[in-house]
Amino acid sequence: AAKVAGGARLARFDDSLRAQQSERARIAAGLRAGLADGSLFLHYQPVVDPATGRMTGVEALMRWRRDGELVPPMVFIPVAEQTGLIGQLGVLALRLACARGADWYRRHGIYVTVNVSTHQLRDPEFADTVLAVLAETGMPGTGLVLEITESVLVDAADTPVLGTLREHGIRIAIDDFGTGYSSLAYLRRLPVDILKIDRSFIDDVSFTRAILDLAHSQDLVTVAEGVETATQADQLRELRCDLVQGYHFGRPAEPEAIESLMRESSATAA
Ligand code: C2E
Ligand code: MG
Ligand code: MG
Ligand code: MG
Repeated sequence: AAKVAGGARLARFDDSLRAQQSERARIAAGLRAGLADGSLFLHYQPVVDPATGRMTGVEALMRWRRDGELVPPMVFIPVAEQTGLIGQLGVLALRLACARGADWYRRHGIYVTVNVSTHQLRDPEFADTVLAVLAETGMPGTGLVLEITESVLVDAADTPVLGTLREHGIRIAIDDFGTGYSSLAYLRRLPVDILKIDRSFIDDVSFTRAILDLAHSQDLVTVAEGVETATQADQLRELRCDLVQGYHFGRPAEPEAIESLMRESSATAA
């Protein structure tokens, strides 16, 4: 009987594995189509100076509409990475973000930040690709920030790619800081400009303070992610966090909606 039950378990395991594989294949096929048909696009989330409430940047976040519904990046980004489609998806993100961002940067001085994955950074032509997109869209390097997670940055630190990008004015941000495995010693030699504190630490005031001190001692600009309440925003302002991002200040939204926020924001400042 045990043998039969084991066999049944194995069969169920096979079935679920097969189901997983076919779902992955379906996502990959959808993404491949989405690269051409406009169902892959960007939303933008404000990055705000908590001292003034003004928008200083926007993070570009990939969105995918499949059968009328948005599929979360947590579902499709890993598949894009596993299938190598992330290369093309990444170029699309850069193109769309810089095309919009060039105008935003010129008019309002607002920069755009784009997430970059491991796979892209390992591509020896990555720096050339980014520079080509800048040329094609008229975006100055100083208007672009590339967000890279800690572990991926540590891998790329010994390659010339980050140096090349920074020579062109592009800034590098460590994304999700605190969730990677790298030692703090690395922070001293990573070629980065901005440190984004992962949202899981937002309510840990003493930890956040320690990270902010450390980051500021290395002349890094600090951004807190996932700010959802006024209390959190006040706290971060008191802690002298340079910039904040989160639902409290604005959810990721269509470029048109973000653009009208920018106009309001500059009008208030004038
Ligand atoms: P991330 O780069 O850390 O982006 C921030 C995520 O936090 C976004 O999730 C954003 O919508 C969410 N968020 C913003 N404010 C709040 C808040 O106040 N509370 C909470 N709970 N969440 C907040 P999203 O858009 O689902 O993206 C998830 C991840 O997918 C991103 O994390 C990034 O790692 C990846 N991703 C998104 N777009 C791209 C892309 O174009 N290329 C690559 N390689 N990865 C991307
Ligand atoms: Mg990010
Ligand atoms: Mg991330
Ligand atoms: Mg993040």
